[in-house]
Amino acid sequence: MEFAFNEEQEELREMVREFVEKEITPFAAEMDRNNAPMPDLFKKAGDMGLLNVIVPEEYGGPGLDSVTVAMIYEELGKGCAGIATSIAANSLASYPVLLKGTEEQKKTLCDLLNNGGLAAFALTEPGAGSDAGGVATKAVKDGDHYILNGNKIFITNGGLADTYLVFANTRKSGGIRGLTAFVVPRNTPGFSVGKKEDKMGIRPSNTCELILQDVVVPESARVGREGEGFRIAMNTLDSARPFVASVSVGLAQSALDIAAKYAKERRQFGQPIASFQMVQAMIADMAMKVETARLLVYKACWLRDQGKEFAKEAAMSKCYAGDVAMQVTIDAVQVMGGYGYSKEYPVEKKMRDAKIMQIYEGTNQIQRLVIANKILY
Ligand SMILES: Cc1cc2nc3c(=O)[nH]c(=O)nc-3n(C[C@H](O)[C@H](O)[C@H](O)COP(=O)(O)OP(=O)(O)OC[C@H]3O[C@@H](n4cnc5c(N)ncnc54)[C@H](O)[C@@H]3O)c2cc1C
Repeated sequence: MEFAFNEEQEELREMVREFVEKEITPFAAEMDRNNAPMPDLFKKAGDMGLLNVIVPEEYGGPGLDSVTVAMIYEELGKGCAGIATSIAANSLASYPVLLKGTEEQKKTLCDLLNNGGLAAFALTEPGAGSDAGGVATKAVKDGDHYILNGNKIFITNGGLADTYLVFANTRKSGGIRGLTAFVVPRNTPGFSVGKKEDKMGIRPSNTCELILQDVVVPESARVGREGEGFRIAMNTLDSARPFVASVSVGLAQSALDIAAKYAKERRQFGQPIASFQMVQAMIADMAMKVETARLLVYKACWLRDQGKEFAKEAAMSKCYAGDVAMQVTIDAVQVMGGYGYSKEYPVEKKMRDAKIMQIYEGTNQIQRLVIANKILY
């Protein structure tokens, strides 16, 4: 069993680390205040090759394996979990097409991502969060095209994406058996972007409502068969969960690093607070949690790369790393006392950012259901 990255991966990690330290970390607080990314950040990320990491070589991308992708997202998560979320959403939105799309769909989407485009995965609706079967957006077949009507909410990259993977229901009666996936380019008539969310955390990540009003798409925009959308969405989420988890690991590691450095510098009672055993215990517990979360993430990715069953470990990694990110960022604030609570230091933002890791791409309650189902049935 090999626990080290190879030379090529280490070089790539160093490049991403430099990018994060130059283009993301110094602007994280400003982006948090502005509720938006720096204007040229995604252009730079695209130039660095960070927006098409899962595009296979045969479609002009780097075709990176899951372990390497997680390694990249962990580094991005250290700088800003919001930016990491937006970048990772490109992978989330691509899986449906890579899994079940036609050659034409794959080529078109991969070309877009290879050229620095952004994509969005649009499943959630006002009445359909954990329960995807509640999707009320309708897709009505009319000759050789479909007419889509409905609303999506909380869509990452919603206001910035060039193309959208939209889940709609092709059955009048609704339910998961009618769920069907469609590719909807942004400029399609009837498609518009609604309200932008004003969020607690990951504020640099764009999260918007989408409105579909008599949106006409050709039959060739359908991904997979009618009614295959639920399976496509679940397979996509399985593949993407370790990536969310890797962002959590990066986020938690960066909070730990900041807290440990602070503990060595801050003096109380005539000595560094790092010399107090209760502070040391917090630092040790944080480090253990980050390391165990990391091991779960890379195990899930490794299983996927080996072509083995990985859904249980994917859910475990997402759930555990999300809980760890929350706890470790809370403890980082605690180690830093009042300064941790102040916006002068970056850990309060990390604590706000961490909360979403337990909510999106399936809440941690839903992950626990997935894990229990895999064990019990
Ligand atoms: C910042 C952000 C970005 C997002 N990005 C995207 C995106 O890009 N694309 C997209 O499609 N969606 C996205 N989402 C939506 C996200 O995936 C959902 O918010 C999430 O799945 C939970 O759905 P909900 O908010 O409707 O909560 P609900 O489903 O209403 O859940 C509320 C509470 O009930 C619990 N609960 C629900 N059902 C059960 C159950 N069966 N057993 C036990 N507990 C249960 C939940 O765990 C939760 O605690 C995003 C959300 C946010 C906030």
